Amino acid sequence: MRLDSTVPAIRVATQNERPVRPEGEYVLLWMIGARRTRWNFALDRAIGWARELDRPLVVVEPLRVDYPYASDRFHHYVIDGMADHARAFAHESVTYVPWVERLAGDGRGMLEAYAQHACVVVTDDTPIPFLRGMVRAAAGRVQVRLEAIDSVGLLPLRAAPQVFGYAHAFRRFLQKTLPTHLGHAPAAVPFDGVTLPRLAALPDAVSARWPGLSPNALENPSSWVGSLPLDHSVTALRERGGDEAARAQLTRFVRTGLLRYGDRSHPDLDAQSGLSGWLHFGHLSAHEVFGAIADHAGWTPARLAAKPTGSRDGWWNVGPEADGFLDELVTWRELGHVRAHLTDDGARYEGVAGWARASLEEHASDPRPELYDLTTLERAGTSDPVWNAAQRQLRAEGRIHNYLRMLWGKKVLAWSPHPAEAFERLVYLNDKYAIDGRDPNSYSGIGWVFGSYDRPWAPQRPVYGQIRYMTSDSAQKKLKMKAYLARWSRP
Ligand SMILES: Cc1cc2nc3c(=O)[nH]c(=O)nc-3n(C[C@H](O)[C@H](O)[C@H](O)COP(=O)(O)OP(=O)(O)OC[C@H]3O[C@@H](n4cnc5c(N)ncnc54)[C@H](O)[C@@H]3O)c2cc1C
Repeated sequence: MRLDSTVPAIRVATQNERPVRPEGEYVLLWMIGARRTRWNFALDRAIGWARELDRPLVVVEPLRVDYPYASDRFHHYVIDGMADHARAFAHESVTYVPWVERLAGDGRGMLEAYAQHACVVVTDDTPIPFLRGMVRAAAGRVQVRLEAIDSVGLLPLRAAPQVFGYAHAFRRFLQKTLPTHLGHAPAAVPFDGVTLPRLAALPDAVSARWPGLSPNALENPSSWVGSLPLDHSVTALRERGGDEAARAQLTRFVRTGLLRYGDRSHPDLDAQSGLSGWLHFGHLSAHEVFGAIADHAGWTPARLAAKPTGSRDGWWNVGPEADGFLDELVTWRELGHVRAHLTDDGARYEGVAGWARASLEEHASDPRPELYDLTTLERAGTSDPVWNAAQRQLRAEGRIHNYLRMLWGKKVLAWSPHPAEAFERLVYLNDKYAIDGRDPNSYSGIGWVFGSYDRPWAPQRPVYGQIRYMTSDSAQKKLKMKAYLARWSRP
């Protein structure tokens, strides 16, 4: 059975050979990647099936306790999103089940049990390995069709023919290819004009064993998250997760921050968007961010550069600040996602660009003037106040100022016995503490520290070889960061 859907076919990946069962009780959306109620191709697809089959829509948003680096920080963020989703879906003809696992393994069998009553199951296609692994494993176990929908970026993941080793080459590809995809955005208001049949009740077998969280539990996660088997040392952030906080920050950024984006390298000016956590958890869609910038700038596709040159300048034509921002959001963000979609080597030292790894290996036995163990790094106990400030910000706020994030990585390379160990340490520190960690961009960012996506630099230096070199002294000389250092001089 085929669905004449508003979702482009290139974003739909059918995961098994099972049929759609029109006699099922509902259409199931298993929300694991694009955790949001708007601008979401997976939700659009599920609504499309529910309308076609004239069946209720059930949205289950699960959260396990055994994902990599599971902590209070990530749990709170996701649960904030669930609270927003419960409020938003309450106005629609949808049965929404936010479910949080209490003990590892409690969720085993849950998707299959829900799927037993479903006509079709829709979920997310995301290049985050543990999520993709879950979807692949589920495909063989559910008895109905399972579709995974790509709502990751402006470019459908399957439109990329290869991994790109340089932003310039990827940008040139985007300049040729994106115009055909830009006209197909997910719905900003997916339920506009849609009325679906309501489900009287979930099957007893599933609601009794896997009950959804109450509104009170969703609004007060502090009262119960502490009892879950998580890393409680990585504490919840002051920053709220969820669609509402994401949208508020996007609005603030477009109104007041975007104009200053050109100053984003200065830690004291705090001129970045701060959106990466919400983008990572799927609370915010790249399409929505792009739409907000385009509306603000009065942009139309007629402004796109006529020729694909690979150059950033003159591509979007929305002014230097917005051009710079869109290049990060589209070229750099999607570069990492495309790579993670096509290979799994980005998260490993072996995936670093060949020339860069060769150069690092040549210098692997160079004496290191200072060496630190992981515990000292984690506690921000080095002799470098700039590095320590960045590490303290990471632990406390789950983020590091963008420029300092690069410097932070470069220093760990110099302070570790071997570059392969430095890579592992960065993955550990980033993924454990950063609210946007465990993302394809985590590994492209860390890969960049080791030379990927960059070019060889002269002169060759001890330890770094031909890899770009950065120092805290020069950062302090050229950047405004006094207030930043004062703020983070102590935990
Ligand atoms: C060592 C290191 C580790 C990194 N780890 C991560 C990570 O775990 N998760 C993550 O999302 N990004 C990571 N980055 C990339 C970048 O630092 C962050 O995306 C950015 O700082 C997020 O802040 P922002 O949302 O205010 O960015 P803004 O400058 O406002 O950019 C807007 C969006 O564009 C994307 N973006 C911006 N810069 C980059 C970049 N260099 N590469 C890829 N996408 C980018 C992000 O989605 C970001 O939210 C890392 C970079 C380095 C050097």
